[in-house]
Amino acid sequence: MSEENAVGWFCAYTPLEILDAAGLTPLRRFGDPARLEAADALLHQAICPYVRACLASVTDGEGAGDAVVSRHAVFVNSCDGMRRLHDAWRARFPEHFVHLLDLPRNQDRAGERLLAREFLRLLATLEDFTGRTIDARSLREAALRREERRLAYLERARGSSGAARLRLAMGFQSTPADEIPGTEAGGTRGGGVPVLLTGNLLNPEGLVSVLDAAGAEVVCLDLCNGDRAFSSSTLPAGDDLEGLCASLARGYLERRPCARMADARRRADDLVKEVRGTGARGVIYAGLKFCDPYLYDFPRVQKRLREEGIPLLRLESDYADGHVGQLLTRVEAFLEML
Ligand code: SF4
Repeated sequence: MSEENAVGWFCAYTPLEILDAAGLTPLRRFGDPARLEAADALLHQAICPYVRACLASVTDGEGAGDAVVSRHAVFVNSCDGMRRLHDAWRARFPEHFVHLLDLPRNQDRAGERLLAREFLRLLATLEDFTGRTIDARSLREAALRREERRLAYLERARGSSGAARLRLAMGFQSTPADEIPGTEAGGTRGGGVPVLLTGNLLNPEGLVSVLDAAGAEVVCLDLCNGDRAFSSSTLPAGDDLEGLCASLARGYLERRPCARMADARRRADDLVKEVRGTGARGVIYAGLKFCDPYLYDFPRVQKRLREEGIPLLRLESDYADGHVGQLLTRVEAFLEML
C-alpha cells in the first residue's frame, strides 16, 4: 500500500466500501493522544480530544499515533468537533483529497434518501480524483469483502472483553481491507463482574484498562471505535449504483446509533435490550471531554436506566488518560455494589 492510496477516516458512518471500490485504502485514524497540544495552533483546547489527537498526529509530520501518514481524508459531518477538524485539515492540506460527507440525524426514509445522495456524491468526487470509474460490480465486490471482514471481527472478538477487544476492533479499522490484524483478542471473558460500556471513543490503554484491572468484564463495547462500527451489515442489494447506494445507506443507518442521531429513544431501548440480553449487571457510561452529543445524551440515558432499575456509573476521559488510575477506586466501589 502506498501513501498516495491511503485515505484517513474518523467516523463509524464512513462508507468504506465506496473508498475500496475507488482503489483507495481507507485506514481509520486514532491520532496521538499523548501530544494533543500539537494541535493547539489550529484548534481551540476546549474541543473533543479525539479531534485534537487526530490533527496533532499530522501537524508536525511525524504521525506518531497512526501507522501510515496520509493527508487524504474523508470526514463525516457528525458533530461540531468533526466539522472543525475537517476545516482545519482542509486549510492545512489544500493539495490533498479532503471530503466532507453529510450525515442525516433521522434514521427514516428521508434520512436514507439524503445519505444515499451523499454516497453518490462521494462516488463522483472519487472518480474525479482517481480517474477511475466505479461501477456496480466493483462496489458490490468491495461490499462483500467488507462484510466478510465484519464477520471476521465478530468471530475473533467472540468471548473477549475490555481493552483487548477494543484493541482488536481498532486493529480491524486501521489496517487495509485485505489484511487481518495480528492482534490477538485476549482478555477472555469469565470471572469478572459483567458490565456494558457505552460512550463515544476511548483509548484502550486508558480508562478501559482500569475497568479490566478493577475486575469488570465488559460484555458489550458500545463505543464508536469498538463494536458499534461492526453492529450492522452493510451488504447492499441493487442492480445499479443508485440502488446499491440506497441499500448501503439503509445498512449504515441501522448501526447501533451514536448519540448524535435524533432518535434518543432507540438508543436507550438498544442499551436496555443489550443489558438484558448480555446479562450485564450495570452500565458504565464513559465519554470524552467536550463532546456535546454525549453530554446531551447522558441525562436521557440516566433517566431511562433509573426507570429500568439498571445501575449506572459515569466516567470522563481526556483520551490520553494519564491520571486514570485515580478512577480505580470509584470503579471498584461501583462493581462491589452490583
Ligand atoms: S467524540 Fe463526540 S465530539 Fe468527538 S468526534 Fe465523536 S461525537 Fe464528535
